[in-house]
Amino acid sequence: MMIKKLGVTAALMGAAMFSTAATAEENIVIGTGGETGVYYQVGGAICRLVNRGTSDHDIKCTHTTGGSVANINGIRNGDLDLGVAQSDWQYHAYNGTAPDKFPEGAFGDLRAVFSVHPEPFTVVARADSGITKFEDLVGKRVNVGNPGSGARATMEVVMEKMGWTMDSFSLASDLNSKEQAAALCDNKVDAIVFTVGHPAGTIKEATTTCDSVLIDVDNDVVQKLASDNAYYAMTTIPGGMYKGTDNDVTTFGVGATFVASTATSEETVYQVVKAVFDNFDRFKKMHPAFANLEEAKMIKNNLSAPLHDGAVKYYKERGWM
Ligand code: GLU
Repeated sequence: MMIKKLGVTAALMGAAMFSTAATAEENIVIGTGGETGVYYQVGGAICRLVNRGTSDHDIKCTHTTGGSVANINGIRNGDLDLGVAQSDWQYHAYNGTAPDKFPEGAFGDLRAVFSVHPEPFTVVARADSGITKFEDLVGKRVNVGNPGSGARATMEVVMEKMGWTMDSFSLASDLNSKEQAAALCDNKVDAIVFTVGHPAGTIKEATTTCDSVLIDVDNDVVQKLASDNAYYAMTTIPGGMYKGTDNDVTTFGVGATFVASTATSEETVYQVVKAVFDNFDRFKKMHPAFANLEEAKMIKNNLSAPLHDGAVKYYKERGWM
């Protein structure tokens, strides 16, 4: 009798719990980048870990493909809950120092969650293009990247410092990251420029489909950019990572970061952060660009907006702050 009664109660509770879960489920959207970049992999990995725990926290996660600037603007206008963004564009959005990209001015409610992988400013040229250094891009056909991407926005910063305009190239195309390797190998452009983590699918595709090489971006202009701004640093892309480029490549770069706003609840950000760091070994194995990530650096480096309260809650629980 007792057992039977318990069974009925459990069944009723189960039904009640089920209906509560079904109505309370929260769908969150993470802004990432093109499918052949690394942001898309970051968003995919985070969503996979979050979605493993949906029955516990009722959060379901999906991800989109815009790029840094689009992601930050998407968070601001409420289309996105979280997003991946380059450290330079996180800085400019928070401080209001790039009104052409963030027309609404300083985004004081922007919050940092953690930083992810390094992203070198990467130039790949066709081997037959005659391009051996960054300055050789002048007069060539160059894919500068799609508007909305941080990669394009950072290229515009470098171009301005170099004294270049779009007319400095015989062709400036704005193909997105997924389209650019094919354009290079179909000989529609001589070079592609992409600020991205390594190894990246799109750079692998460009260097294996046709003869192409990674080009050094090392001159007074980028060295000054790196020394004047905390969100840039000189860096190298290891030789041997891509076919045709056996020596280390010197360039400058940014860091990929994960951001949200104060409009994303403390509980949501806490659960997302917990899904990543409770399963950190699994996360690091999800893409080779994550292999060297370290928790202590991720919660500190490359972050210019304040940390989100939900992230702080988790980091304190772990004794990291
Ligand atoms: N850094 C690039 C951007 O913000 C995206 C790189 C990637 O897709 O991994 O547009």
